[in-house]
Amino acid sequence: MHSQNITLLAQQLRNKEFSSVELTQYYLEQIKQHDASLNSFITLTEERALDLARQADIRIQNGENNPLIGIPIAHKDLFCTENTLTTCASKILHNFVPPYESTVTQRMLESGTVMLGKTNMDEFAMGSSNENSYFGAVKNPWNLNAVPGGSSGGSAAAVSANLAVAATGTDTGGSIRQPASFCGITGLKPTYGRVSRFGMIAFASSLDQAGPMARSAEDCAHIMNSIAGFDDKDSTSSETKTEDYTAQLNLPLTGLKIGLPKEYFGEALDPEVAKVTLDAAKEFEKLGATLVDISLPNLNLSIPSYYVIAPSEASSNLSRFDGVRFGYRCEDPKDLLDMYMRSRSEGFGAEVQKRIMVGTYALSEGYYDAYYLKAQKIRRLIKQDFVNALTEVDVIMGPVAPTTAFNLNSKTQDPVAMYLEDIYTLSANLAGIPAMSIPSGFIDKMPVGLQIMGNYFAEAKLLNIAHQFQQHTDWHTQTPSLTEGA
Ligand code: GLN
Repeated sequence: MHSQNITLLAQQLRNKEFSSVELTQYYLEQIKQHDASLNSFITLTEERALDLARQADIRIQNGENNPLIGIPIAHKDLFCTENTLTTCASKILHNFVPPYESTVTQRMLESGTVMLGKTNMDEFAMGSSNENSYFGAVKNPWNLNAVPGGSSGGSAAAVSANLAVAATGTDTGGSIRQPASFCGITGLKPTYGRVSRFGMIAFASSLDQAGPMARSAEDCAHIMNSIAGFDDKDSTSSETKTEDYTAQLNLPLTGLKIGLPKEYFGEALDPEVAKVTLDAAKEFEKLGATLVDISLPNLNLSIPSYYVIAPSEASSNLSRFDGVRFGYRCEDPKDLLDMYMRSRSEGFGAEVQKRIMVGTYALSEGYYDAYYLKAQKIRRLIKQDFVNALTEVDVIMGPVAPTTAFNLNSKTQDPVAMYLEDIYTLSANLAGIPAMSIPSGFIDKMPVGLQIMGNYFAEAKLLNIAHQFQQHTDWHTQTPSLTEGA
């Protein structure tokens, strides 16, 4: 069994304890043994992985010292990968092979990582349980009857089960943090614009953001060093200078002010999750931080606002999938209109169709002001809540989700219950601030994540805080015990 510690693996590769080819073979073997029951991968790229590993071994031999060289990772199947199937877990893209590479995967490639394959997800990243995938649900490695969270459920399950050292995810309303929480790993949603969206299949462009999912904050920092930074191919990419995300990991936390928003500990929250969350916050007091009660008064408006804005943007973004240019086209269309209609109604799953309809309605003449514009105004209030709170405190902590991972099929018939899952994560996307989930305990053997939210471009600080916690706790080192075939 190999550790999922990039710093250590990099050392071991350089000490010739094993080669990247051997490490890659080990991970491919793990996937073959365990993924039949987890379903965390849509595509395995075995040949290419071994090729990349051979190249990585040469780079290591030549003395290159980027710790990511030769590290086997996985990418969410939402990032376009040149000449490699990219489905976004949708039938409409089931045969789409992009002619170009996304910036995130390109940068990870240049850093020397070895892509093992593309991970399962909710179709077009719409969902909180990974049950909306054309390729079937993903199972939670801690309990095969439970969901892994969504939409980056495949990435979270793969890392949790040690089928990859780390993975990429995307987070439009919680899709990195909630699955990280449900599967007991560490995930970071960076500030909007910190990581390029070029080559990411768009869901809601003003909210989408890519980030790392790994065992530890330190590993997330290594990946941030590769993917963060300006990209002239994405007009919303930020020119703010990046930092060395590993350089500040060991700063002491003395004097750190942590805000605990009272709205995050209200009725919606399972009392046991509340206890784990508060216990974790108290751990920070031991590290020299102080806890401050704060308020984010508009928390409850985040669900109605998000579930107007995200579908509106999706309805516009997804209009490009028309059976003409990409992916699936229906059989024997009568005429052009029939081709559009049937390709889209056969190609998109139920949740995606629902959101396209909601979004089209909210943007239509006569309703725009009442829904979309109103939602944007609320978004502004939510952002202002964070801006105000972050003048008082350095970071904000709270739960990631109201509960631990729920059972498969338990919420599929109740969209309101499913959307309520997102109550604590949506607002960071609406405001555009960075937010993390780190493992902070267990309830009935299921992992619980702690959410840490910070000011714009405070990724290095969040990683420092998470790393210090992980130096003093061992929640993040726990791994599910998988039996053969599970
Ligand atoms: N669960 C949210 C949704 O379904 C968020 C998904 C995401 O972050 N991609 O929209």
